[in-house]
Parts: sequence; structure tokens; C-alpha cells
Amino acid sequence: MPTLDMETSDSSGAPVAAASTGKRVLLAEPRGYCAGVDRAVETVERALEKHGAPVYVRHEIVHNKHVVETLTNKGVVFVHEADEVPEGAMVVFSAHGVAPNVHELAADRGLRVIDATCPLVNKVHNEAKRFARDGYDILLIGHAGHEEVIGIIGEAPDDVQLVDGLDAVASVQVRDENKVVWLSQTTLSVDETMQTVVKLRERFPNLQDPPSDDICYATQNRQTAVKAMAPECELVIVVGSRNSSNSNRLVEVALGAGADAAHLVDYAEDIDPSWLHPESGEVQTIGVTSGASVPEILVRGVLERLADHGYDTVFPVTTANETLVFALPREIRPDRR
Ligand code: SF4
Repeated sequence: MPTLDMETSDSSGAPVAAASTGKRVLLAEPRGYCAGVDRAVETVERALEKHGAPVYVRHEIVHNKHVVETLTNKGVVFVHEADEVPEGAMVVFSAHGVAPNVHELAADRGLRVIDATCPLVNKVHNEAKRFARDGYDILLIGHAGHEEVIGIIGEAPDDVQLVDGLDAVASVQVRDENKVVWLSQTTLSVDETMQTVVKLRERFPNLQDPPSDDICYATQNRQTAVKAMAPECELVIVVGSRNSSNSNRLVEVALGAGADAAHLVDYAEDIDPSWLHPESGEVQTIGVTSGASVPEILVRGVLERLADHGYDTVFPVTTANETLVFALPREIRPDRR
């Protein structure tokens, strides 16, 4: 198997000049696990260590097939709803957050809950509660049916309206045009969200912005890195699962930023060799990145597969360094004594 040569990028994040004829890979940095996903996966692993199998998890702990399969093999039982968990058992709530009625259902069944909701999702929940209490109409930009969106709407169902795409703006109705605020799902495309905000503001000039960015740092950083490398890429491969919102957005961002093609893959084996030979000729530069719920081992697999096809020189394209770490949920923190 060919080995990978890791080359460097300059201080601006742009790759140093590649050999003019060589096939190459541009590797986005940052990519992969964010602080919220890291915390959620570690929470489940520690719950298994501390309490033994089975540990029940409501919904996929994070939206990644490999992570879910690995945890299932270790004794995690994924359920759709808390009423599928035996009374008194332990249940972990996923990183995407839950509506208050899910906490009530779990309490009714005497479940021992560990809430692995990402603190940055919790922040949006708290904003929704606060603006609802203050009598605002809350316009939540997000995707219908996504677990995070369901959880946020559940905080104030009478006050939150979902705005799913530009076309939805026309049908928004508010009680008082001077008391309207927009919030958003954490994993959206930054550019598309701002387009929706502009359109909303045309209808509601006094629309308030959220107190701070709802689209999280990890989503933004991964999109920025893809934008930096995509203009040089004939092909961008995003490692991530179909149900991962932020991974899907990376495909869209890559195409929007100038990549000729972009595909989402769960595993290296999902790469179709025909992608490397489009009608325009053999691909020279491939961009690689991964969604915020993707373990690095899957990216390594993709790089090795590409090396097998001659793409064995890898140039990191670094646009940010991430150092954020979230404390584990209280119930699962190591005992300090
Ligand atoms: S993508 Fe952002 S909001 Fe979602 S878990 Fe990661 S840090 Fe939290």
C-alpha cells in the first residue's frame, strides 16, 4: 500500500505550491469531531464502563453510522423514545437535545437520565425560553424534522415558528412586528442562513438578531476550511452520514465555493472510482474533510484509499485551531476523591 506524504500549508492556510503535475489531496483543518460530539460519545462510553451494558440512548447519540454501530457492539441500545426504555433503567439523551416533554416522560418512568445535549444546543433552548417569556415571536431557521429543531420548538411550541428555507419566509405570521427574533439550528450553512435572515428582515424590518451566533463554532470553522480549499478542487469528498446536517452542508458549501463535484461518504469503500475520472479528464486535486460527528479513523481510511489511486501527497489547509473542550455531564464526571 502506498504511504501518505503530509506536506504543509503556509500561514494563510493555503497549500504550498504542489508539484505541477502531481495528483494531490487538500485536507481541511479543522474537520471531524467537535467538542459537543466528543463529549456525547465519551459520556456513553463512560456510562458503559461505570454501569455496564445495556445503556439505553434515545436516538443516535450523534449522527454517524460508524459511531452508532461501534457503540451498539459494546452494548448500547438505541431507542426512538423514552417509553421504550425499561422503567428505572439508565438513558442517555443525545447531543441534539430534547424537548421538555421528553424529560417529563423519562421522569414518569423513573429513568436515570444522563443528558448529553451539547451546551451550544442548550444555549439555543435557553434563548427560545427567554424570548418566549418576553412575548416574542421566535422564527427558528432550521430543517423540519431534525431532532435539534424538534427539541427547540418543544421549549415554546406556541411562540416558535420554523422557517425551513427561503420559500418559507412568505408564510410567516407574527403577532407584533416589533417583537420578532430569529434563532437557528446550530448546523446550518452560514451563507444560506444569512440569505434567509435578509429575506425575513425585508418583511420584518425590526427583526432582532440572536444574542450570539447560534450556528456553532464547529459548523462555521468546518465550512470556512472547505471554502478555502474548494476552489482548487475538482472533487471534494466529505466523510459523514446522510442524516448528518453539518456534513450535508459541507457538500453544499464545497460546490458553492467552486469544487466541480462533491460527495458524501460514510466509508472509504463508498468512493466510486468513476469520480476520479470525470469526462473532463483525470482529477488532479481532491479535497477531503469530515463532518463534526466523524471519527478521524474514517478520514484515514479515505486518505489510504485515495493513496491507492495515486493521490498520496496530502496538503493540510488550516484555517483555525480548535481547543474548546466541554466538561462531561455531572452524572458521569470522574469522582475527584
Ligand atoms: S456541531 Fe456544534 S452544536 Fe452540534 S454538537 Fe458539535 S459543537 Fe455542539
